[in-house]
Amino acid sequence: MSRFWSGFVNELDPYVPGEQPKLANLTKLNTNENPYGPSPKVIEAIRMAASDRLRLYPDPTSAELRQAIADFYRIDAAWVFVGNGSDEVLGHVFNAFFRQEAPILFPDISYSFYPVYCQLYHISYDTVPLSHDFSINVDDYDRINGGIIFPNPNAPTGCLLALSEIERLLQKNTESVVVIDEAYIDFGGESAVSLVKDYPNLLIVQTMSKSRSLAGMRVGYAIGQVDLIEGLIRVKDSFNSYPVDSLASAAGVAAMNDKAYFNETCQAVIDERNKVVAGLEELGFDVLPSAANFVFASHKQVDAVEIAAGLRKEGIIVRHFTKPRINQFLRISIGTAGENQQLLSVLDTLV
Ligand code: PMP
Repeated sequence: MSRFWSGFVNELDPYVPGEQPKLANLTKLNTNENPYGPSPKVIEAIRMAASDRLRLYPDPTSAELRQAIADFYRIDAAWVFVGNGSDEVLGHVFNAFFRQEAPILFPDISYSFYPVYCQLYHISYDTVPLSHDFSINVDDYDRINGGIIFPNPNAPTGCLLALSEIERLLQKNTESVVVIDEAYIDFGGESAVSLVKDYPNLLIVQTMSKSRSLAGMRVGYAIGQVDLIEGLIRVKDSFNSYPVDSLASAAGVAAMNDKAYFNETCQAVIDERNKVVAGLEELGFDVLPSAANFVFASHKQVDAVEIAAGLRKEGIIVRHFTKPRINQFLRISIGTAGENQQLLSVLDTLV
């Protein structure tokens, strides 16, 4: 590209998602999808919406979906913002609340989309090293900042920060927006939604991609007091005044309403995670404590790249990151009981 505008385009390092190969004969444990699929009630709701609603534009306020989310958390629907997956919601958050003048803070090992949004929206940032045990120490976020964001549980480590620590962070940091990205909170953590009423600068971002198994549908949301939600709506309206399409809305409503299926499948993922952790430890892996639907593990002797390549040869895909401190780790999504068993059996031949 040699045009005058190519400089900007070339400077941007876009986010690179985990690969999505065709599923036939592959055990896909690389992008933290839910192995159980959405509730049958979700499939039925999509079917009905497909026959009834496609001719019409979707509701620009997504009232039904926002209400279903609000009912689940027992909050007011005016505290809920929805979008096409939490990546889009996060994009609006960065655009609405973070600036160039004051650096925002996030952990040095964290969701790799954050620096991409910073580049895209010209936001300055400082990364804060994780502690020696890969945990987030809220005392490291004391300095004056233009905002704070981190996933809880963190990605790709899976480590959970206790709710009391998040509250301690909020008590220290009252001047800028604190965003907790709870993509994986339903697999063993306690949501900070309960703190929103006391902290007007707290925004929670969640997704239906993981615990509600709707990654292909793209539904994410944010929960915060009205001022923050209104800030997001102003940014959103400048992009696309329809937050989510009719099928996504119907699916999201049904997913929020089927609490029994949600509880059952989250618990199944947790039970399977416990088995995977025990199996990995038996094979000589060190596994970080995980509250997510994946584990982050490194082998005491065998190189991570070698293990990932060996797994791939046998049709199992896991995620490897090249960043120095974590380049001996593999991030392994929790699959079905059969997939997890297959993983452990193949690893047994590799380590
Ligand atoms: N936050 C974190 C920490 C994630 O790992 C992901 C999934 N890649 C997301 C947000 C985005 O998820 P989605 O856009 O599917 O809602």
